[in-house]
Amino acid sequence: MRIIRTIAEVREAVRDARRQDRRVGLVPTMGAFHEGHLALMRAARRDNGLVVVSLFVNPTQFGPNEDLSRYPRDEARDAVLAEREGVDILFAPEPSEMYPDGFATTIHVSGLTDVLDGAQRGARHFDGVATIVAKLFGIVAPDVAYFGQKDAQQVLVVRRLVRDLDLDVRIEAVPTVREADGLAMSSRNVYLDGAARQRATALNRALETAAARAAAGERDAVVIEAAAREVLAASGIRPEYLELRDAHDLQAMDRLDRDGLLAVAARVGDARLIDNRLLKANH
Ligand code: AMP
Repeated sequence: MRIIRTIAEVREAVRDARRQDRRVGLVPTMGAFHEGHLALMRAARRDNGLVVVSLFVNPTQFGPNEDLSRYPRDEARDAVLAEREGVDILFAPEPSEMYPDGFATTIHVSGLTDVLDGAQRGARHFDGVATIVAKLFGIVAPDVAYFGQKDAQQVLVVRRLVRDLDLDVRIEAVPTVREADGLAMSSRNVYLDGAARQRATALNRALETAAARAAAGERDAVVIEAAAREVLAASGIRPEYLELRDAHDLQAMDRLDRDGLLAVAARVGDARLIDNRLLKANH
């Protein structure tokens, strides 16, 4: 596996692979790898001749009061894990490589970014995501790019970006990888101390409880959401949001009469956690 720091070198490596007719897969990440990241890498390895993983803690997607400075970083460990998964290139640029002096362009995907994490973290978060993803697509020109369903809103934003800008890349969403007790894996889980780590399991339990109600025939969004809220409350968690929304366009939903996304964000101890569950209407 090669660790590459410059855009020019990545481009050259991708050009060489293309000359050999190898399909190119890209996995964008911010590092601090866990099994969720590795699942994306495995999917990419299975489908492609060249696998590029980007490792870049993108400053523009963090708000001023968020955790940019303390975000977990361990490139040496990440490199070992990526190499073990058969990754060909770890692209780990410095911020100055991605945002040189004079950088002036922002991509804003409207609508989808007004709700859930967009409303909570501010529009700039998804502007930062859309802009860095567009840059990575421009640099690597992948055939396929892999994203985790854990960040369901991010997947929708990236799909919209690809459609609207006619980018020639297929987006693959990979199911959320969880700990044995159901907690969705996240680089931010390292912020959880023992008690908070235990309480954090309530997020998945809340989603499961709501999903069971839906599977049993409940269609009223208020009732479905209340079932989840009750589980959170029992663990002393007041969510930043807990909402059932249309799984495709994130419009508000009164009734589960089409596929819904039940999404939650909550602060637990020192960590801000998100999770979600797809609820099918045709159970
Ligand atoms: P991050 O490094 O947190 O920006 O995540 C990089 C990619 O891994 C994103 O597409 C995430 O959605 C995905 N990801 C993060 N956690 C998980 C997980 N538990 N299961 C599946 N994918 C994940």
